[in-house]
Amino acid sequence: MIHLKSAKEIETMRGASRIVAEILLQLRESIREGATTADMDRIAEDLTLKKKATPAFKGYRGFPASLCISVNDQVVHGIPSPKRILKNGDIVGLDFGVIYDGYYGDAAMTVAIGQIPPEVAHLVKVTEQCLHKAIEQAIPGNFISDISAAVQKHAEANNFGIVREFCGHGIGRSLHEDPPVLNYVHNGKGPKIKPGFVLAIEPMINLGTDKVKVQADGWTVVTADGKPSAHFEHTIAITANGPEILTKV
Ligand code: MG
Repeated sequence: MIHLKSAKEIETMRGASRIVAEILLQLRESIREGATTADMDRIAEDLTLKKKATPAFKGYRGFPASLCISVNDQVVHGIPSPKRILKNGDIVGLDFGVIYDGYYGDAAMTVAIGQIPPEVAHLVKVTEQCLHKAIEQAIPGNFISDISAAVQKHAEANNFGIVREFCGHGIGRSLHEDPPVLNYVHNGKGPKIKPGFVLAIEPMINLGTDKVKVQADGWTVVTADGKPSAHFEHTIAITANGPEILTKV
């Protein structure tokens, strides 16, 4: 069931989402070669508590940290570790959420450490473009599959693999609500988009094939071919005037 949000609820979600956006920007500014993924998690958690919010992912179905941090061939749900030292040429997916005033905000970005190969830079750029092309389709009267089709068309035009096993989602008082927002078209048009929908749209795009697997820790998703993967996400609200990106400073 899709929970339509009132104007008041969307106002509250702006607050939660703004905190997410501000913290992601601070993570992007502080990430560097030599930092560990656990360092980034600690920064995210400290900033969250300072803003009187609650980390959304810590403890979610047993996830052990505040930040999902996924390096290179890791697609999503990477677990921060003091042993994982970031190095020049890495790409790092930062996926972060908070709970504030009872509502969730959720966003992700992929950042480069130093110099990355041109084909990997292209992957990161195209994945971010996929997100924005998807958001453009999130207008009243369109269908959820129009969002999916926008991601699929742009990723496939660039010969990248689209991760099938994970997808975007409705968001509100729960982290994952209806409807699912797939990154490819599957099973018809899906629900018609209406004002009051709040969605987390999140393309996960691979340089190689679409195949992924979950590592022995039960969380970390990696590409099956070992090639890099990129991930961008925004929480957006659909208003009568179209989409509003909530996780934007
Ligand atoms: Mg999400």
